[in-house]
Amino acid sequence: MAEITIKGLTFEPYISQEEIAKQVERLAAEIKRDCVTDSPIFVCVLKGAFVFASDLYRTINMPKSEIAFIRYKSYVGTESTGEMNKILGLNDNVTGREVIIIEDIVDTGLTAHALRSDIEVMNPMSVKMATLLYKPESLQVGKVPEYVGFEIPPKFIVGYGLDLDEQMRGLRDVYVLKKKD
Ligand code: 5GP
Repeated sequence: MAEITIKGLTFEPYISQEEIAKQVERLAAEIKRDCVTDSPIFVCVLKGAFVFASDLYRTINMPKSEIAFIRYKSYVGTESTGEMNKILGLNDNVTGREVIIIEDIVDTGLTAHALRSDIEVMNPMSVKMATLLYKPESLQVGKVPEYVGFEIPPKFIVGYGLDLDEQMRGLRDVYVLKKKD
């Protein structure tokens, strides 16, 4: 894996697709073990979680489970704006259902907190969150996600669904922004 420079920023390889696949297997097994019904609904947070959700959902492989999509946006470039904009709401019925939110990354926790609150008012049986990446040092609000692929320091990440201004989402590995020398 080589470094990638885009928009004047250099990214270096951080987590390989093999390491990601291992954690996806682990999380899928944990989620399946913890489900108390056979028909949970997974809520993929677009756009960043679409790659992780696709792998995780297929690895969980519960025939009666469903997947829905929701979209919030708080990042511009490499910085969180601190403001949550709901772009796509949830139309699926989650009342009385086990809900598992699938996030790409939990940073300040603002998105996760807003999502949980929006879903909790719909009276689900339970709401849990699975995230590929979690930056514990950045968490400002809300709960620690129930299912975490990797705990990482507060650095800017791209690849495997995560973007830099909509680019780099298709990288199979996860990359980290390199500090300027
Ligand atoms: P939070 O609301 O927890 O601050 O941030 C959540 C959202 O911000 C994530 O779903 C993701 O879209 C974006 N985000 C947070 N950290 C990063 C990062 O390191 N890289 C990228 N590409 N997006 C991030």
